[in-house]
Amino acid sequence: MKEQVLGVDVNTENYDELIPKLFANIDAEKKSLVVAINPEKLMKAKEDPELKALLNRAEFQIPDGVGVIIASKLQKGNIKSRVTGVDTMDRIVREAARCGKSIFLYGAKPGVADAAASKLIETYPDLIVAGTQDGYEQDTQKVIDTINEAKPEILFVAMGSPKQELWIEQHRDNLYPTLYQGVGGTFDVLAGNIKRAPAAFQKVGAEWLYRLLLEPTRIKRQMNLPKFLFEIIRQNK
Ligand code: UDP
Repeated sequence: MKEQVLGVDVNTENYDELIPKLFANIDAEKKSLVVAINPEKLMKAKEDPELKALLNRAEFQIPDGVGVIIASKLQKGNIKSRVTGVDTMDRIVREAARCGKSIFLYGAKPGVADAAASKLIETYPDLIVAGTQDGYEQDTQKVIDTINEAKPEILFVAMGSPKQELWIEQHRDNLYPTLYQGVGGTFDVLAGNIKRAPAAFQKVGAEWLYRLLLEPTRIKRQMNLPKFLFEIIRQNK
């Protein structure tokens, strides 16, 4: 099921409903793309029709970010819980390990995808990582060939949004994998290059405050949330 938030389709499923749908598509050999939707992207898409169309063309748009949940509540919608990019990747990987589907990690600086793969294998020893590729190889055909020779069912692309979604859309007809997810900076997080907020901050839902303390210039990005909610209220009057 989908619900529109500022003109962008967003899936209403929680993790337990979403993951079987993604794997059913793999089994049916139906290609699908998962994009993470947050208030920042929705505000950008409001001003950028091409970005909006790109997000809407994806088969799955997951509600990443609490702002999307609040927006749905304000418009009396059905999106009840966050489905984050990081946790969706984790659940896809867990299910892939369980049912023997292989994954490929494409993106981030040289060495990072390998380190991320090692961490994933530590957590899920049965996982098959068909290959990795850093996100700075300029020869696109070489990247496509590397992925296709590895024959993974699932491709995670970590080059930042919307670059990664544009790349997937442009090349997926020529690529072997059936399931695609754009995962931004997730390989860096997995590899341990970027620390998540301490547990105390996570527990009270204040990771944003921790990041703001580390990086005060983020206030500009964070001010997008109140602007976004104001826009939702305005449109639902
Ligand atoms: N990146 C890449 N190729 C590029 C540009 C960026 O692989 O040409 C990688 C970069 O190394 C980083 C990720 O893309 O690992 C960008 O993460 P960011 O946190 O900016 O993405 P977001 O989650 O904000 O979309």
